[in-house]
Amino acid sequence: MSNQKIQFLEPTPDLEKYRDVWVFIEQVNGEIVKYSYEGIAAARKIADKVSMKVGAIVIGYKIDEGELRELIYRGADYVIYSDHELLKDYNPLSYTPVLVEIVNKYKPWAFIFMADELGRDLAPRVAYRLRTGLATDNIDFEVEDFFHGLLKEKFSNILAQVRPDFATRIAKIYTPRHRPQIASLRPGYFKPLKEDKSRSGEIIKYEPKIPSYHSKIKVLSLEKVVDKGEKLSEADFIISLGLGILRDAEGNPGRPLEVVELANKIIDLVERKLGVKAALGASRALIHADVSELRDIITPDLQIGQTGRTVSPKVYVAVGISGAIQHKVGMMRSNNIVAINIDEKAPIFEIANYGIIEDLYTALPKLYDILKRKLEGEE
Ligand SMILES: Cc1cc2nc3c(=O)[nH]c(=O)nc-3n(C[C@H](O)[C@H](O)[C@H](O)COP(=O)(O)OP(=O)(O)OC[C@H]3O[C@@H](n4cnc5c(N)ncnc54)[C@H](O)[C@@H]3O)c2cc1C
Repeated sequence: MSNQKIQFLEPTPDLEKYRDVWVFIEQVNGEIVKYSYEGIAAARKIADKVSMKVGAIVIGYKIDEGELRELIYRGADYVIYSDHELLKDYNPLSYTPVLVEIVNKYKPWAFIFMADELGRDLAPRVAYRLRTGLATDNIDFEVEDFFHGLLKEKFSNILAQVRPDFATRIAKIYTPRHRPQIASLRPGYFKPLKEDKSRSGEIIKYEPKIPSYHSKIKVLSLEKVVDKGEKLSEADFIISLGLGILRDAEGNPGRPLEVVELANKIIDLVERKLGVKAALGASRALIHADVSELRDIITPDLQIGQTGRTVSPKVYVAVGISGAIQHKVGMMRSNNIVAINIDEKAPIFEIANYGIIEDLYTALPKLYDILKRKLEGEE
């Protein structure tokens, strides 16, 4: 055993002066990124529990007042907006110091970022500069009392950040002695609040001081990445394929391309006949299996789960997916889960509303035929 003592970071002075729950609002070309509203819904949940306000923090250039006002209609109590030509596009060397300045001036109790590319880059920079903690990729938040075993001290009413742990557990992380309590939230876990135009709130303009070193990074252009999985976030019907598609029930090599084509036919049928958005997803194991005939078809942007996308459709059909916790956390908020699996003990059946214990090579064609008959009236 080492005799090394654990060194704790000095606590933030004047902890009690920190109030309100903030959300960092992302914008691209002056348009608010819509899942920022999910962050506001999460902040609202926390703020109401501790009788604090929700602040929406926006950095950009010439953002329309209507866009800012919308943040209040969606649940923020006030907006702090920092407007400058040099803040038009995301640059960590300008956004970080400006956010740190704003935090030091207003002292928020908690600060939520969305756990996307931008949030994953910006939140740790801000947390480090402020000498406070950060828990990433949360899926929920609570307000709780927390007993710190090492310090032998109880902290009342602090933020519990809820996130999947490395393998099979859900962990709670606390930042008891530092402020703000910084967190990133995975998109897809909170529903945006309904627009309420009767809400009012102040839009506070913050004059930023941008350090000259910002010019070490220059944004030359912004290009939208082709994301085949984009449809998944909005889809009401999802068919998700797992490693099970590689073999039939006897363990013989399967015909995975045929399964994908059949899944796409069902998706097309549902979209045409029911007029709902439908999409194809996949488990990480299938994507990583790197099956040559599925290359360019089953791509990483279709991954659902802890390290992929979070979805909450009306119907989620899991085909040949075992239901590992890392997959479940990405789809367990679906309204109806249909699972097709040969193994009746597969964990996916613990959360499935409808279970089909059968070889997917027979069950999926049957599902297609039934849907076709029902929706197209064919015999
Ligand atoms: C840090 C970390 C992050 C991760 N993130 C993710 C993530 O984001 N998303 C994700 O999906 N996974 C993730 N994983 C991997 C996860 O742990 C599982 O390994 C993965 O989800 C398993 O995928 P699967 O269900 O397709 O494969 P398997 O677990 O191999 O399951 C295949 C299933 O198919 C069934 N089956 C086989 N043949 C047939 C047949 N012919 N007909 C019907 N059923 C059949 C089997 O009974 C089995 O239940 C992560 C793991 C770690 C450690």
